[in-house]
Formats: sequence, C-alpha cells, structure tokens
Amino acid sequence: MKVLLVLCGLVLVVSARPDPHPHLKGAQVLRVVPEETWQVGYLRALQQQDLYDFWTEPNSVGRPVDMMSDVFQLPVLRAALENVNLSPRVLVSDVASLVAGSTPHQHNNKDSFSTRIDWTDYYDYDQITGWLDSLATDYPSVCKTEDVGTTYEGRTMKLITIGTGAADNPGIFIDGGIHAREWISPATVTYMINELVTKGSGEFSELLSKVNFYVMPSINPDGYQYTWTNDRLWRKTRSDTDSSFGCKGVDPNRNWGFHWNEVGASSSPCSDIYAGPEPFSEVEMQVVRDQVNRFAPTLQAYLTFHSYSQLWMYPWGFTSDLPDDWQDMDNLAQNAVTALTSLYGTRYEIGSSTNTIYAAAGGSDDWVKGVAGVKYAYTVELRDTGSYGFLLPTNQIIPTAEETFEGVKVVADFIMNNNGR
Ligand SMILES: [Zn+2]
Repeated sequence: MKVLLVLCGLVLVVSARPDPHPHLKGAQVLRVVPEETWQVGYLRALQQQDLYDFWTEPNSVGRPVDMMSDVFQLPVLRAALENVNLSPRVLVSDVASLVAGSTPHQHNNKDSFSTRIDWTDYYDYDQITGWLDSLATDYPSVCKTEDVGTTYEGRTMKLITIGTGAADNPGIFIDGGIHAREWISPATVTYMINELVTKGSGEFSELLSKVNFYVMPSINPDGYQYTWTNDRLWRKTRSDTDSSFGCKGVDPNRNWGFHWNEVGASSSPCSDIYAGPEPFSEVEMQVVRDQVNRFAPTLQAYLTFHSYSQLWMYPWGFTSDLPDDWQDMDNLAQNAVTALTSLYGTRYEIGSSTNTIYAAAGGSDDWVKGVAGVKYAYTVELRDTGSYGFLLPTNQIIPTAEETFEGVKVVADFIMNNNGR
C-alpha cells in the first residue's frame, strides 16, 4: 500500500508537468543525399505533402536533405525514401531528448528577469529587448534604440542604431531571427551588437565614426516566443491564415514582395514554406521593409542571419541567374569567410542562394537588393552542418558569434574603406 502511494505520488508529480513537445517523442531527423536529379524532384514532391518537417531543402544532386518525422510517420517516410533508392541515415535519433537537453534553464521566468545577458545561454524576446534598451541607456553616445512597430500578437519591435558619425554615413542593416527556431541567429546578432557598442569608443571608434549600423536582432518575435512556450521547432510567424485545418503562420522569408511566390514556396497555409496570402502580408516584415526603406539611400550592405548549414549566400534566390555585379558580392563574401574560418576552422560554402541551396522566392535579401537597391545583400546560414541543426548547444554560441563577427568586420571595413564601391 505504501509503495502504491509513493507510486501514485510519482505519477502525480510527473503528470503535473506537461510535456510541451508530445509530438516530438520518438521523432527522428533522417538525412538522404540524392544522387540523381529525379530524386531531387521526388524529395520536392514529398516536401509539398506537408507531412514532414524539412530541416534543409532539396536542391541538387549531392546536397544532403534533412527531414524530421514524427514517430508514426517514420516507417512511411523510410519506405518512401527506400522506394527510390535513397538510403536514409539517422541524423538525430531522438529529437525530444535533444530539445530537452538544449532548453535554457536559468532565465526562463520573470523572477530571474534581468537586463543583463551573456552568451552562455539563449534568451527570450523580452530579455533581448530589455537588454537592448539598457545598452542604449548605458552607451548613449554610441547607440540608440527605437520602437519601430508592433507584431501581430502585440509585441514591440525594436531597432538599435549604432554609430557616432553623420546620419548620412554609409549604413549596414543587420537582422536576425526571421525564422523562429533558428535561435543561434538572434544570439549571434546580439553578440555583435554588444561588441560594437561596448567597444565603440575603443577598438571600433573609427568604424563607428564612418559607418552606421541598423540592427534588429529578432524580427519574428511572436514566432520566437512561441518556440519558448509551445513548440521549439516552430519556424513561421503566428498570424491567422483562415486555414480550415487551423494552421497558423507564414514563412516570413517567403513573404517579401520581389518575385513573390514564384518558386520554392507554398500556397498552403499548413506548409512551413507558406508564402502568405499576398506579399508583405506579415506585419513584422512590413516593419523591417519600412526600416530598410528608411535608410536605403545610405545602405551599402545588408546581412540576414539564419541557421543552419554554414553558407554565405547572395542573391538571387528566385532564379539561378546571377546579378550583374555578382562578382563584387562574391569577392567580398570570400574575404569575409576567409576571416571567419581563420578563427576556428569552420568551413563555409559561398554562392548565390539558388545555386547554393535552393530556389526560393520572397526572401528578404532578394527584395533588399532588387527593390531597395542595396548592393551587398547577404543571407548567412550559421552553424552547424546538421549534428544539432536548429538545436545548437549553448557552448557553441560564443564561438559561432565570434567567428561570424570576424566575417562581418570584413564587410564593415570594406564599406568603411571603399564606401561600398
Ligand atoms: Zn532560416
């Protein structure tokens, strides 16, 4: 009887803490490497079924495709792959335990709220914006923050301007967190903000007197916060879509109004790559677009940070054709990546988005170059290459941010010294 009581107590304790990720129990990530063009097409068709979560997308022969499946669909997915001679390798054998192991511990309640952050852990949206404002209070001669918009769910979006010189100095626009689950992106962008601001009157005084940085570290706040509270692997925004299945959200990096929804996007609200009902349907992307437009006359470079795959890419994403000045973008990317790799040996691939990963219209970098006219527009896919994917452990935040900043400094120095020409 006593044993039974103890057991009942245990059951009560366990059931009192609901598992936020029941759908991930037993889920796995499988990797295949297509060897024939028709297999790539087959994988694309599989993606359109919206049954599996594609962590990387089918593009070309030889490039790995990572797919997450829940435990129920796993045998179906395996059979579907083996039917076309694709041999899946298990990349992540237990997604649920990887999520549990990478969940931040010490900062996720209001009691521990502080405006100080470091880069040994991930931080939620309120902590990031609170920290941004405190930075502006502590370093008023180097930076300022502005509330520049409100998200679908009512969160305030913030922009930090870093610079000590003229307002019409050449500008660099940086954003992070457009895809909610890519947590290393806001972590890396906040690290770079911190470096520039806290060393703004020292190491970076000349740079900040000649170049202005406009930075938004987390541009999909509703989605990002949802990855903290409900689903660690959520990618999209959180807007209502009128889906009869109750599917929510738009892929914000398919929502930009340049060759919108022409390729590599979906018109189905349940898809992870849903382009939205129209270009710029998402208020968060309207806000970022308006800020890019506001500074467009001075902007020479744009950097948007994603994960994962270790790629430094430039437009176009909507076509395999290259912009006329692709060689300029490629040269600067080569130099940036050389500096990045020199720190820890992390290897990156460089190329146009379409030719490097996949054709996908409606991305922010295409719009920023094609419409706003910013010459050096880059999409950077940070660490890793799939061992952890979106669930990059906290002990990789600082090295990832450090090496990335080496690359960004090359871009910034180039803009400073050449004024972007
Ligand atoms: Zn992304």
